[in-house]
Amino acid sequence: MNLVKKQMCVLMRNGNQVWMPEEKARQLGEMLVDNTDRQFISFNGEYFNTASVDQILTTEAMEEYTRRRNNEWKCKKGNWHSRGEDCRCSWATTGESPKPVELNESQLKRIEEIKEKIRENLK
Ligand SMILES: [Zn+2]
Repeated sequence: MNLVKKQMCVLMRNGNQVWMPEEKARQLGEMLVDNTDRQFISFNGEYFNTASVDQILTTEAMEEYTRRRNNEWKCKKGNWHSRGEDCRCSWATTGESPKPVELNESQLKRIEEIKEKIRENLK
């Protein structure tokens, strides 16, 4: 069992991360939700410019945010891969045969070009 108190991250618009216990972060979130007219709010002896707070995220969401920022991507199996790395998760873990690769636009275009050349040669 994880005895460490759950943390949440207050992500500022400038990219700064302010970590605090989930309970406090949720209080801050509620204050921000309720706040309609003040630019600054005082919270636990700290002051927040309400316009500077971008998101308040759970550790899970924060991990996802950080990984995406590092150009990692999540496959259908829920595993993370670095950019350019192919996913072989379903293949390796379930023994399914690999799915046909989805071609991107430039690859499809290239195939059309090759087909066109073949047609020209057949004339
Ligand atoms: Zn994968």
